[in-house]
Amino acid sequence: MGRSSKDKRDIYYRLAKEEGWRARSAFKLLQLDEEFNLFKGVSRAVDLCAAPGSWSQVLSQVKIVAVDLQAMAPLPGVTQIQGDITKISTAQEIIRHFEGQSADLVVCDGAPDVTGLHDVDEYIQAQLLLAALNITTHVLKPGGNFVAKIFRGKDVTLLYSQLKIFFSSVTCAKPRSSRNSSIEAFVVCQNYSPPEGYVPNMSNPLLDHSYNVDFNQLEGPNRIIVPFLACGDLSAFDSDRTYPLQLDSSKEYQYLPPTQPPIRPPYQQACQLRKNNLLAKEDSPSGALDDSLSALDL
Ligand code: SAM
Repeated sequence: MGRSSKDKRDIYYRLAKEEGWRARSAFKLLQLDEEFNLFKGVSRAVDLCAAPGSWSQVLSQVKIVAVDLQAMAPLPGVTQIQGDITKISTAQEIIRHFEGQSADLVVCDGAPDVTGLHDVDEYIQAQLLLAALNITTHVLKPGGNFVAKIFRGKDVTLLYSQLKIFFSSVTCAKPRSSRNSSIEAFVVCQNYSPPEGYVPNMSNPLLDHSYNVDFNQLEGPNRIIVPFLACGDLSAFDSDRTYPLQLDSSKEYQYLPPTQPPIRPPYQQACQLRKNNLLAKEDSPSGALDDSLSALDL
């Protein structure tokens, strides 16, 4: 497969390169904003799980703090924290950067390294979303908005219920740039209004029964069902379709490299090993791999 075949199969991947976004995910946030007007009046934002940084690029007109486990190439005007969103120290660092002021918007496009075991992936994704919600309760102003990736698995109503405790409006949205074939969607949580007396902490809010919250609402016909909305202009490209390389007949197709290749990806070592034909070698003499690794300075 040539380098151009991904351009053909994935129209948003190609457009991202043409328009200078670091990832195709930029279109998801842009399409969510088209539908929900999320950026209106925002002057401070937090981008959780931000690498390689296309959502931060989209938000870079405002004061923004971006957090990721992985190192991210610098972006003008974006304060970066390399850290884990499940840690209280990360929440504290974000608060320090805002000098006591609250954010108007928190976004989280976090995803675990998927295992392919759907139940496990959905569970980890849900935990990541709850970690993002916890951090959000520390930094978001009342009335502010929170957007996060969610996997629409079988336990999703539990998550909706948790979010409904903190936000007066919760909608599940699927931008056109998010493939139909993927269980990915985004919860758009508007008007942050925590329960009276709620003290932000980093534990799972579902396990804290000290607030007067009716968890029975998950039962039977009373369970929370949040609206589901497909968003993005109907004339937008369909992310599941394959498009010809020659989209605009007046221009000649030209392959473009990614806007910002990852700077220290976790798979870098494996790529180098493969390049040097050192991956999964049977019967290699003991110590040969170690010698090769030190020769490669890995
Ligand atoms: N929104 C990004 C963009 O537009 O460039 C893409 C985000 S990417 C789909 C998901 C990111 O979640 C990865 O960079 C990963 O390192 C990050 N992540 C996963 N678990 C995390 C955690 N516990 N703390 C911080 N970042 C995490």
